[in-house]
Amino acid sequence: MNEFCEVIKRYEKPFYYVYGNRDMGVKCPIGNCIEEKDWEIGSYTLTNQIEKIDKSKILVNHYLHTQFEDEQVNALLYLYGHDHIGRIYKNYIDLGFLYRGMQAHGAMEALYGCYWFIEINEGKITVENNSWDLRESTCDRHPNQGIFYIPYYYQRDCMLCYDLEHKLNF
Ligand SMILES: [Zn+2]
Ligand SMILES: [Zn+2]
Repeated sequence: MNEFCEVIKRYEKPFYYVYGNRDMGVKCPIGNCIEEKDWEIGSYTLTNQIEKIDKSKILVNHYLHTQFEDEQVNALLYLYGHDHIGRIYKNYIDLGFLYRGMQAHGAMEALYGCYWFIEINEGKITVENNSWDLRESTCDRHPNQGIFYIPYYYQRDCMLCYDLEHKLNF
């Protein structure tokens, strides 16, 4: 955590976060925790609470909330992670991962993932994905499931296929 904070401080930018499932019990000493309170950024609000959402809110969860798997979220934008699928669909962005160590979550080698630039201008959202060891893909079997950012060595074009079938032993 200390190492991480040193890196983040160098940017001298506001820093907002939610915890991941491996951060339990480790308190981040810097930045603004979206799980503790909402944070206003210009005319938008970062929130972690699904009961507060409306079109001015950017919902940020660690997990994709089960309620919004099928139902469309009524937020301006929905950011989440957890499952290591970089992905853009609807107004959702699964942020994927920045780094994945060997053997963690099925990675067969250490991977540098991606980071995102997200610009919001009068409600219009522009998204740029910047990847290292990932490739952009769409899936013929999941044509309406958006754009994926998957490890370059995946044989399938979609991580939903991998999740559904468990056939590939990565
Ligand atoms: Zn997680
Ligand atoms: Zn697929």
